[in-house]
Amino acid sequence: MQQQHQQFLEKQKQQQLQLGKILTKTGELPRQPTTHPEETEEELTEQQEALLGEGALTMPREGSTESESTQEDLEEEEEEEEEEEVEEDDDDCIQVKDEEGESGPDEGPDLEESSAAYKKLFTDAQQLQPLQVYQAPLSLATVPHQALGRTQSSPAAPGGMKSPLDQPTKHLFTTGVVYDTFMLKHQCMCGNTHVHPEHAGRIQSIWSRLQETGLLSKCERIRGRKATLEEIQTVHSEYHTLLYGTSPLNRQKLDSKKLLGPISQKMYAMLPCGGIGVDSDTVWNEMHSSSAVRMAVGCLVELAFKVAAGELKNGFAIIRPPGHHAEESTAMGFCFFNSVAITAKLLQQKLNVGKVLIVDWDIHHGNGTQQAFYSDPSVLYISLHRYDNGNFFPGSGAPEEVGGGPGVGYNVNVAWTGGVDPPIGDVEYLTAFRTVVMPIAHEFSPDVVLVSAGFDAVEGHLSPLGGYSVTARCFGHLTRQLMTLAGGRVVLALEGGHDLTAICDASEACVSALLSVELQPLDEAVLQQKPNINAVTTLEKVIEIQSKHWSCVQRFATGLGCSLREAQAGETEEAETVSAMALLSVGAEQAQAAAAREHSPRPAEEPMEQEPAL
Ligand SMILES: [Zn+2]
Ligand SMILES: [Zn+2]
Repeated sequence: MQQQHQQFLEKQKQQQLQLGKILTKTGELPRQPTTHPEETEEELTEQQEALLGEGALTMPREGSTESESTQEDLEEEEEEEEEEEVEEDDDDCIQVKDEEGESGPDEGPDLEESSAAYKKLFTDAQQLQPLQVYQAPLSLATVPHQALGRTQSSPAAPGGMKSPLDQPTKHLFTTGVVYDTFMLKHQCMCGNTHVHPEHAGRIQSIWSRLQETGLLSKCERIRGRKATLEEIQTVHSEYHTLLYGTSPLNRQKLDSKKLLGPISQKMYAMLPCGGIGVDSDTVWNEMHSSSAVRMAVGCLVELAFKVAAGELKNGFAIIRPPGHHAEESTAMGFCFFNSVAITAKLLQQKLNVGKVLIVDWDIHHGNGTQQAFYSDPSVLYISLHRYDNGNFFPGSGAPEEVGGGPGVGYNVNVAWTGGVDPPIGDVEYLTAFRTVVMPIAHEFSPDVVLVSAGFDAVEGHLSPLGGYSVTARCFGHLTRQLMTLAGGRVVLALEGGHDLTAICDASEACVSALLSVELQPLDEAVLQQKPNINAVTTLEKVIEIQSKHWSCVQRFATGLGCSLREAQAGETEEAETVSAMALLSVGAEQAQAAAAREHSPRPAEEPMEQEPAL
């Protein structure tokens, strides 16, 4: 697999070189990196302005007055946060020192900000309602909608902790959305978004789209924060955490304490574009990247905790850089910290969430997430990805990779193989959900569902970063299916996808689903179409392998080639047969059952949104 990565990266490098040549030919010389920090900062600001201008031009829809004013607000916020950053970085150093020296208990009188924040959140959660109750109490559901903007009482907000007598933050029981401009600053020093598809415009565009469509006004905006180094270490090694989670300033302090060993610029490669990075995808900005990558993690943690605690119905995290390729000690494929994996760990460790389902529908396999939970039966990882027998990045994710030790059976890879002719699209994804994803997910019965929601399988993404033709609206329908799990506690986190129109359309569809807004229906042609032969072969293989661990998938082994309409008809027929048989025997059992019920009343079942088996 490592070799696979290597080959892939080599190919990427060649492409970068080609691009470099083209740029040079057209007279647009790549910028040279500067070493003077102030110059760099200045240049970055310039570049960011240029980027913002460019982003606005290529944005799928025009900005409204409302979005402009919000953008101003955000920029103000950003300045404030710059101030915070310095202080917080100091905290990191203290935290590291404490850990190394084991100089005191975590819960000493000088509570570290993050653990205090957790305690606060946890207390809030307990005050609100236990995890098992997912329906909002009426009092919460009728709280007037809060204006967009900073949530004053969120843990990282300045102004100190509130007293325990204060009321907990009241959110409208709806879809939560998290976004923070800090994440825009993670960009290559060269500033060329054409060379680096994972750029700030991605999340800016999605944010604007949600504003312009009015969807955002139906959501609660959750304020993000930077994840602590301690939180990141639930998944990543200490070395990896410090390498990417600290800025040059405090890293220098750490180095002087000899905590870090040989961390230096040498960890990064000089890129053909003139910037630095792990590779040409996974670029690094010494000034801003550490804050941005920690913000991405912290945003998702904040949102998921509120959903798990019952404060919010569900959530959508507009975050970058993505995370699902990030392994314990490896940054790759645009990813540094695995936000979804860290969030799953923290939900279990801090909120006592039992079972977490992670569905990963990014077109690339989430090698980092698979690694993090490979032997863990409490986290079920289901990935749908382009595999092509290991010839598609990152090369991992074979259907035979089913988990290890106690985690055997808790790793499911729907590994599409057979290229893009015929293409993989809506029918294939919906069929995979019908026959593999949803049956296994229901049998697993998770407490929370996290989705690595990459949108690079959406039409508009070409190989090697895509090649499939799933429609944006299809992802809305997939989201709606997942909402039948875990009492609706579903949180989507953006992963990959760089075609701005595609990722905006798909985000809009998913947030609509989360809000239970009526979705654009799937085309009748899609419902009538049979999945292509390569997809059927893939699913046959997955079912053959997974039926050893999940008996529920066995019944789908036949009829994989059905259209969704045919499958639906089959299910209806089956259901009718079952109810007809039940009717036949009901007379005989009626008296018996009534007598039994008198003695032990049946507990009321959880209300469950029913979704047709599409
Ligand atoms: Zn660059
Ligand atoms: Zn991807």
